[in-house]
Amino acid sequence: MPVTIGIPVPTTVNHVPERDAKVIKILLDTKIITIFAAAGRKRADSPRLSRMERNLLTHNIIQMRRKIVAGNWKMNTTVPEGRELAEALVAELPNVPADVQLIIAPPFTHLCSAGKAIEGSAIALSAQNCADQAKGAYTGEVSAAMLKSIGCGYVILGHSERRQYYGETSATLNAKMALALENGLKPIYCIGEKLEEREAGRHFDVVKAQIEEVLYTLTPEQMSQVVVAYEPVWAIGTGKTATSEQAQEIHAFVRKTIAAKFGQQIADDCSILYGGSCKPSNARELFARADIDGGLIGGAALKAADFIAIAQSY
Ligand code: PEP
Repeated sequence: MPVTIGIPVPTTVNHVPERDAKVIKILLDTKIITIFAAAGRKRADSPRLSRMERNLLTHNIIQMRRKIVAGNWKMNTTVPEGRELAEALVAELPNVPADVQLIIAPPFTHLCSAGKAIEGSAIALSAQNCADQAKGAYTGEVSAAMLKSIGCGYVILGHSERRQYYGETSATLNAKMALALENGLKPIYCIGEKLEEREAGRHFDVVKAQIEEVLYTLTPEQMSQVVVAYEPVWAIGTGKTATSEQAQEIHAFVRKTIAAKFGQQIADDCSILYGGSCKPSNARELFARADIDGGLIGGAALKAADFIAIAQSY
């Protein structure tokens, strides 16, 4: 049965299975928890985490606001190329700060082989999408349960390319979100305005509606599983990055909008990633902002050296 343990530091442990709660108590006694808490503070002078601590984070025994660098490979690489890329990331992992969670989101066809390549490492596996139905006669679709069964921990939902080219609406996304959560996948929920919406000064309204129409349908427990990615559509794949001021302004607004429904603690614990032409040359400035907890990376995730350099920008 799940139990809830509060920790008197800037993080909470929620819904931990009883057997893990025992581990947590030992960790509390041995002060390892305080190390996790330090890792959760932005720009805190975090001590490097041990392999055991890293594993506990990866397996989500501890929840907190995490620094995340996630690579959305989109429809790129063949299966052998994808395996090679995943292997290169594993080889470089010791050079990544231990409190930065790396996630890769290869195409469906690559999930098994890329998943094998990262097995036993601290890199987590994500899908780029899932079906809005649980199972059945839906040719060409891939269900949340299938993704979970091959080791995915995350799924990207609501990417602007899916909204734009495949007509995904808030109703579709509500169904996908519910299925992802029911199956133990953490959604990486993408939001962001188009160029004309920003030019018309409507960016706050657009992002607020995307949050209210989908995230506001969740319970607080479900919301605590969600990662949000702010991706201004005009910055995706265009080489145009939002300035760190523009990104911080929206990220703070996103957190405030989450807090208005779910309370400050859940909002503070939610990782909000920036996406849109993020690269080694601009990641440091973006990640230095108080409400930017990492990045969802497209083009630059296809080169191991660039992806790792972005992760090293903390
Ligand atoms: C994305 O599509 O999620 C993305 C951020 O792409 P890029 O980094 O290529 O702009």
